[in-house]
Amino acid sequence: MMPARRRFPRRRTSMKQLGPWTLVAALPIMFLLGRGCEPTLAPRSVEKLPAIEIYFSPRGGCTEAIVREIENAQHSILVQAYSFTSAPIAKALADARGRGVEVAVILDSSQRTEKYSSADFLVHAGIATAIDDRHAIAHNKVMIIDQQVVITGSFNFTKAAEESNAENLLVIRDPQIAEIYTQNWRRHAEHSQPYQDRRAAGGATGDGEPAPKKSKKKTLPPSP
Ligand SMILES: [Zn+2]
Repeated sequence: MMPARRRFPRRRTSMKQLGPWTLVAALPIMFLLGRGCEPTLAPRSVEKLPAIEIYFSPRGGCTEAIVREIENAQHSILVQAYSFTSAPIAKALADARGRGVEVAVILDSSQRTEKYSSADFLVHAGIATAIDDRHAIAHNKVMIIDQQVVITGSFNFTKAAEESNAENLLVIRDPQIAEIYTQNWRRHAEHSQPYQDRRAAGGATGDGEPAPKKSKKKTLPPSP
C-alpha cells in the first residue's frame, strides 16, 4: 500500500506552497468576510449592520430582508423592477409611503399587462410609478434606500422568486455604490412614462395584491 500513499499530497499546506496569487485571489473574500458578510437569516443587530448581506432563494430570506430594509427607510426608496408581484414587498412600500418616505418605482413595460402586477396597487398607494419601455426588457431589480443602501441581485420582487426560483440577493450598505445606482436610476426615470392605472382605464382588475377598499379579493395570486 505504500506506493498508493505517495500519490496523495500531505494535507498541511503552507502559505509558501499556496503562492502569492492564491492570497491575492482570496483577498476580496477575506475583505468581505472581514466587513461582516452574513449569509445567514439571523436577525441583524441595529447597532452593527453588516456592510453586505447575501441571501439566496428559494425560501432563503430574500423577501424578509427586503421588507426589513424598506421598514427601516427614513427618507427615500427608489425601485427598479422587472416583474413586481410580491404582496409583502408592495405593502411595505405602501406603508413607507404612508409614513412620509419618498417612494418611486420604475417597472418593465410587461407590467402594463402583467395580470398580477403590483403596479395598480402601488399607484393607489400614492407611489410614483413609471414604465421604462426603452429596452428589450428593463431587467434591473434594484432598490436604493436613503441613498445609503442598495438591494440588488437576480431576485425579482415576486412570490415565485421567493418560493420557487433559484435567485440571489445582495444588501449593500455603501453610499458611494448607492450614488452610482441612483444616477443610473435617474437616467432610466428620464425616459420612463407614468404608469396608467388599469382600473381607472377600465382595463384589467389588476393584481390581487392588498386591494383598494372597493375590492374584497383576499387571496394572493400565483406569481409568474
Ligand atoms: Zn431605461
